[in-house]
Amino acid sequence: MTSTASGTDRSLPEALEAISPVRRVPADADTTAGEHDTTMETIVELCKRRGIIFPSSEIYGGLRGAWDYGPLGAALRDNVRAAWKRHTIQLRDDVVQLESSILMSPRVWEASGHVEGFTDPVVECRSCNARYRADQMDTNAAGEEYCPKCGGKEFSEPREFNLMFRTFVGPTQDTSTQVWLRPETAQGMFVDFAHVQLTSRQKVPFGIAQVGKSFRNEVTPRNFIFRVRELEQMEMEFFVRPGTDEAWHDYWITTRWNWYMRLGMRPENLRVRDHATDELSHYSKATVDVEYRFPFAWSELEGIANRGDFDLRQHAEHSGKQLSYFDPDLDERYLPYVVEPALGVDRCALAFLVDAYRAEDAPTAAGKVERRTVLRLHHALAPVKVAVLPLSRNDKLVPAAREVGGLLRPRWATQYDDAGSIGKRYRRQDEVGTPFCVTVDFQTVEDDRAVTVRDRDSMAQERVGIDRLPAYLAERLDL
Ligand code: ATP
Repeated sequence: MTSTASGTDRSLPEALEAISPVRRVPADADTTAGEHDTTMETIVELCKRRGIIFPSSEIYGGLRGAWDYGPLGAALRDNVRAAWKRHTIQLRDDVVQLESSILMSPRVWEASGHVEGFTDPVVECRSCNARYRADQMDTNAAGEEYCPKCGGKEFSEPREFNLMFRTFVGPTQDTSTQVWLRPETAQGMFVDFAHVQLTSRQKVPFGIAQVGKSFRNEVTPRNFIFRVRELEQMEMEFFVRPGTDEAWHDYWITTRWNWYMRLGMRPENLRVRDHATDELSHYSKATVDVEYRFPFAWSELEGIANRGDFDLRQHAEHSGKQLSYFDPDLDERYLPYVVEPALGVDRCALAFLVDAYRAEDAPTAAGKVERRTVLRLHHALAPVKVAVLPLSRNDKLVPAAREVGGLLRPRWATQYDDAGSIGKRYRRQDEVGTPFCVTVDFQTVEDDRAVTVRDRDSMAQERVGIDRLPAYLAERLDL
């Protein structure tokens, strides 16, 4: 807590150190990605081949902007969510959780400004009528905008297109039954602010966090799961005393930076870019984008906005309800200001996949060198934490390996694999980022009741007694 002349001031953030220096860049920083360890094609191919992520309704040709997460992908998403919730909610006593509904009163979106202003500029190719987002056009070597479908260079004037998906509640379909699929989770936190504050007995400053699906009818979904139409967001609205908002904005920038660093993201692939004044959203006092160096360009991974009191003020005016907060320390009522870190689960999973990907030379047991693909995912994110591998499908080894699997499964996501050579099985696990492989061999059953534990990154192998195995893994895997 910050100490002032009058003692500890709870309204200001505690001093916070960045794990590695937060790299701030100006609004007009170059977005070229430069040399990368991998390409988007490589990541997409790996995800498809291993059933991590693949097109939705693929047997019917897929649906643009919609993706399915297979067993490993679903586990990766769970882990991304869990890591965010742990640091944003569980480890703090000043943030509470909310799950608000996806369908909300249409008046919410009128008040928030989305009906009027949640739009992107769209242009149409004059030759083939394909539509594109005017601010994300492809350019050729001469810097001219062109249509990737037909090569045309003539486009219509930009027209604003609302990104909200529209649907109807009940059996009649007219303007009185029209509702929207939420394009962000944030509005749930604003409209429920008073209720949550009262019932959770939180005092400002405090936050309300939520993880949930949002929908955006993106004009050009692209770059795999970077820009999708059905997305999941992790958002937190942190309500603060006006005047302390800038200090809290800085605090959340550092806090979020530290989250990525703790999860092993390479600092050279992350930066914080200030928004230019003409780039700011209608609600924003100041915004930064946390940008990741994706193979296609430096692009937004997370937005951290100082929303002022815009949202609470709008909802108070439109609903006629009291949304101000009585601050007992100041003996004063005010509309809190809001600092909002907001990111997408899908985009975040993509950044971690890209960051973790390595193709490298590795020595084999036979003393040769072999190329291996490895996802150096932080163990908290790895879909499988430990693989249990009997050296062969021998009658003695299989039950022993099953027993070891049974010992580990209640605590960690465990995969049993007895198909193929041990080297091939190691490679299969490396490729999906499994931190540890446990091999059960003849010595295990005939002699020492110990197993060989192989570390994904160093490939070092260690003999560990089965009795000691849970403690050994807990030391390395548990948070
Ligand atoms: P962009 O400029 O890329 O369209 P935005 O500034 O509109 O994004 P926000 O409204 O700030 O995005 O949403 C917060 C976060 O939600 C983004 O930083 C991103 O991680 C995620 N997100 C937003 N739109 C999409 C999308 N279409 N697909 C995947 N993730 C998304």
